[in-house]
Amino acid sequence: MAGYAHNIALVAHDNKKVELLRWAEFNRGTLSHHHLYATGTTGTMLEYELGLPVTRLLSGPVGGDQQIGAKIAEGAIDMLVFFWDPLEPQPHDPDVKALLRIGAVWNVPMACNVATADMLISSPLLSTDWNTNRPDITPRGWEGSAPVA
Ligand code: PGA
Repeated sequence: MAGYAHNIALVAHDNKKVELLRWAEFNRGTLSHHHLYATGTTGTMLEYELGLPVTRLLSGPVGGDQQIGAKIAEGAIDMLVFFWDPLEPQPHDPDVKALLRIGAVWNVPMACNVATADMLISSPLLSTDWNTNRPDITPRGWEGSAPVA
């Protein structure tokens, strides 16, 4: 594999953590070539299971989802694996929605289930210097001072 390392964020709600861990273990070899970010509990479990370094943010319900979202807005995340739970309300539902929204705004590849995560992780683009094609928001007048990667 070429030496291109991308920034991959991983988040799983409690009922989805086992699914994410299984997926990550299966794809450990590929993931080991990239920089991993995760919300608190997901990150702790991933580090333990994979033995790979993970930049851990706050736990999702206390701000971790928003931190991932902020990194996406800054251009610091290239891909998001977000196994949110569609069958159970979360205390931080507004944050979940916000994370999905900001990922869509910035054209970040997002996988919300194993099937899509399989597609993303096996994409040939992942081993290239591919970069998320960040939309140009300037014409809408929404430009800010955030650094653009
Ligand atoms: P956690 O957060 O990894 O800290 O459990 C995930 C989430 O609920 O968004």
